[in-house]
Amino acid sequence: MSSVVIFVILAAAILVVGLAVGVVALVNGRKQPPVRDVPATAPGGTITEERPPEAPEQPRTPVPTLERPEGTAGRLVRLRQRLSRSQGGLGRGLLMLLSRDRLDEDTWEEIEDTLITADVGVAPTQELVERLRTRMRVEGVDSSDAPTVLREELLALVDLSMDRTLATQPKDGNPAVVLVVGVNGSGKTTSVGKIARVLVAEDKTVVLGAADTFRAAATEQLSTWGERVGVDVVTGPEGSDPASVAFESVRVGVDRGVDVVVIDTAGRLQNKAGLMDELGKVKRVVEKQAPVCEVLLVLDATTGQNGLVQARVFRDVVDVTGIVLTKLDGSAKGGIVAAVQRELGVPVKLVGVGEGADDLAPFDPETFVDALLDQG
Ligand code: GDP
Repeated sequence: MSSVVIFVILAAAILVVGLAVGVVALVNGRKQPPVRDVPATAPGGTITEERPPEAPEQPRTPVPTLERPEGTAGRLVRLRQRLSRSQGGLGRGLLMLLSRDRLDEDTWEEIEDTLITADVGVAPTQELVERLRTRMRVEGVDSSDAPTVLREELLALVDLSMDRTLATQPKDGNPAVVLVVGVNGSGKTTSVGKIARVLVAEDKTVVLGAADTFRAAATEQLSTWGERVGVDVVTGPEGSDPASVAFESVRVGVDRGVDVVVIDTAGRLQNKAGLMDELGKVKRVVEKQAPVCEVLLVLDATTGQNGLVQARVFRDVVDVTGIVLTKLDGSAKGGIVAAVQRELGVPVKLVGVGEGADDLAPFDPETFVDALLDQG
């Protein structure tokens, strides 16, 4: 065989081997590792309760770019804007009536009706009208002073003396535990996600507990809220015992030494005894590890009197320490703030003013009243 033929055979063999290697590499390159849960140590991961103990080393999913939630100042500006849009009619209506030259019985009745329509509640309305009548008569207030008098009386109605700070300071080396309760649809899970953002904006470390295990979407929803700001969310299988998820969340929080553990609870309002059992158990198991510092009741402002009925049921089964009033942007009935505080004897601490991620603001009475009256 001539050397030319040998050379040609060798070259062909090299080409065939090269092609084969190339094809194998291409096929392997297309194979993606299976996507698994984010490891528990990655920020914003979902920690599923009952993970098998000897889980194999898991590939890390790339950590998404984290959002930086808005601080308090920006939230208050939006609170003001949204409230003057939704509640401004109430304040302006009252002011127009009070500024009349002659305040006769019909006018006082109209003032009363305006307040009751805005869900202020019968007893607080009567008290407010009585105070306004006295001041207008005794102090001889003329119509130009009406805005000042009304502002002062509305502030008294909303109550400036209540402590509205959230109890989120770790105590004795344990995280502050916040339980969030309320019926389905009130905006409870959304509020837990928004509260996590408020805390992250304050540079606090947080773990969330998705203990609303009866509503499948709630766990997923909360995991997404957590991922966006790098907060871990402890979850359990659908329908599992909420108390066990709550326990696990606090355990993880204690282990990691975080500042706050916020727990979303199941929002089924079956009956009072069932609710009492469920929330009672959650609180008991949590308190084996760390005290519950805050129990926030989430109420939908658009539900009016119904919301008050719910509030009473929750007050009877658990020690509510603060109220989160959602959907104030979609209701002209801001008077519910006064009514619910009166009913429960606890302050509104946070208000929801929209569906945006940072549309939750601390309840500031002055901002609220100024928005009602549309004053700067
Ligand atoms: P849950 O069943 O109580 O957990 O309710 P969700 O958190 O799922 O909320 C129910 C709906 O209310 C969702 O569409 C939320 O976006 C909406 N929502 C919650 N808070 C507010 C708020 O302050 N304003 C408005 N407009 N919608 C809200």
